[in-house]
Amino acid sequence: MDLLDTLTAKGLRGEVPTREEALAVLATTDDELLDVVAAAGKVRRRWFGRRVKLNYLVNLKSGLCPEDCSYCSQRLGSKAEILKYTWLKPDQAADAARAGVAGGAKRVCLVASGRGPTDRDIDRVTDTMAAIKEADPEVEICVCLGLLSDNQAERLKAAGADAYNHNLNTSENTYGTITKTHTYADRVDTVQKAHGAGLSACSGLIAGMGESDEDLVDVVFALRELGSDSVPVNFLIPFEGTPLAKEWNLTPQRCLRILAMVRFVNPDTEVRIAGGREVHLRSMQPLGLHIANSIFLGDYLTSEGQAGQADLDMIKDAGFEVEGAGEATLPRHRSDLAEAAQAAQAAHAGGCGTAASACGSGGGCGPCGGHAHPEAAPVATAASVGESEASEEGEELRSDLVKVRRRGAGTELAPNA
Ligand code: SF4
Repeated sequence: MDLLDTLTAKGLRGEVPTREEALAVLATTDDELLDVVAAAGKVRRRWFGRRVKLNYLVNLKSGLCPEDCSYCSQRLGSKAEILKYTWLKPDQAADAARAGVAGGAKRVCLVASGRGPTDRDIDRVTDTMAAIKEADPEVEICVCLGLLSDNQAERLKAAGADAYNHNLNTSENTYGTITKTHTYADRVDTVQKAHGAGLSACSGLIAGMGESDEDLVDVVFALRELGSDSVPVNFLIPFEGTPLAKEWNLTPQRCLRILAMVRFVNPDTEVRIAGGREVHLRSMQPLGLHIANSIFLGDYLTSEGQAGQADLDMIKDAGFEVEGAGEATLPRHRSDLAEAAQAAQAAHAGGCGTAASACGSGGGCGPCGGHAHPEAAPVATAASVGESEASEEGEELRSDLVKVRRRGAGTELAPNA
């Protein structure tokens, strides 16, 4: 049986491939690409049908972060000309969230820059979640505030949060080259603590930061072992004004191979195409829908995505449908597993005498599109617009595709949804 037959058979059974098989996916050629997409598509349809979950980012607090994540436009010392503002008021955030839900989003992702929240910040987010759920009790809320202190995950859960995002971003081996102000272990700890508090874990990666295939496979297997319920796959947006501004390493074909590898390793997990979708997949975005079952609608934290209506048109044209509020995202067996794991972790925490566990330290929001952040959003400076030269790796610099967000949360202009 050849590689793709093996991966398809395993994926249909919900089995994880070997590390060697995952590496082999990344090593396939462009001539094999459609076969890879088709194989991953069979696995995707087995567990998620033709549904696409839409998620909507609300950047509650933008820029001025004390952490040094080199991929992030909000980092310490960033020269990226992004929007910078402090906490949105609950009604302002709720207005932005409402626009996303009206556009078809099932989940709202509340993100704030910073190493981690203060207890006062948890109060703010609690008020914001109440305002959002008052308008729409059915909406899922994922919170992304960086590293959590004792009791904060439990407080968020009690206040109505459904999920917590904290991305691992890259492999343990390379993490120290990306960020100095916190560690990979800090991030793992935060994901575990959020999960232990009963929050659905959302944790993903950023591709395109100069990592090896082995690094990508390492982080994707780590996410599987952590039990992440949703895996955002970010493609680095090399923002002008950040240390990774010249890291244009990705092609649409490479992005599709990465998505396929993530799908095979996480056959029954929500795989989300996050930040960098428009910049790196470009006209190949519809092929990504055959692999991933989730995307962000509209804009990212600090960069603009394509128009929300273009997202909806793309989904419809490609033969997919937007997942409704009443539909379960994960297969039933995954939901049961998650509940059992949370119960076991809660029991363990109780046995240790810690009602609330320390959620780790280390800052870092995830790139949900950042969080993937969304994180890295490039800046379209006058100098960069129209730029088209070769990066050190030989790929074309496409800074012209990067547009800083100038609408929605933190502005007077309507959100893109
Ligand atoms: S990823 Fe999060 S913690 Fe890291 S610099 Fe950006 S906003 Fe700060």
